[in-house]
Amino acid sequence: MMSSENKTTTNGQKVSVSVPSVPDPGHATVKLTASSDRDHKYLTQAVEEAYIGVERGDGRPFGAVIVHKDKVLVSCHNMVLRYKDPTAHAETVAIREACKKLNGIKLSECEMYASCEPCPMCFGAIHLSRLKRLVYGAQAEAAVAIGFNSCVANGVKGTELFHKSSLEIVKLDASIAEQVFQNTKGKFTL
Ligand SMILES: [Zn+2]
Repeated sequence: MMSSENKTTTNGQKVSVSVPSVPDPGHATVKLTASSDRDHKYLTQAVEEAYIGVERGDGRPFGAVIVHKDKVLVSCHNMVLRYKDPTAHAETVAIREACKKLNGIKLSECEMYASCEPCPMCFGAIHLSRLKRLVYGAQAEAAVAIGFNSCVANGVKGTELFHKSSLEIVKLDASIAEQVFQNTKGKFTL
């Protein structure tokens, strides 16, 4: 069901915009759950990656693991400092590596475990790669709280893609993921 509403553009022109009156049936939701053993295991690996990345001086404290057919396909961390690439977030690095390994551009049989809620850029990449499931630990606000740019916050629900995505998104209740930021504070450059 669509309804129309009139909007006025900056040059004063009236345009009719179609507005969905009911949510798109395929739209994503974020499930909040206590972790199953399986989810906890892979999220823990993503959190360990976050620590490894900082210890090696590769980047900031974020990790991402991609699971394919119940096996870890790639386990990555933020590489922005090592690669001198501001887009080398753990999630995008993991997507690139996973696509290389599977020799394709669709990750529709894969799940991603991210130590922290993905930023808008990474959420866009997750959408483009057709990942079927995203599980994350910390809220992006935990990263903002130690000085990360606030543009990383609300990366999932704040994007238009969120409303279009049929991706299953799970926010795990995992304090280990929230603790990463306090435990690594001062050990990396922002
Ligand atoms: Zn990102």
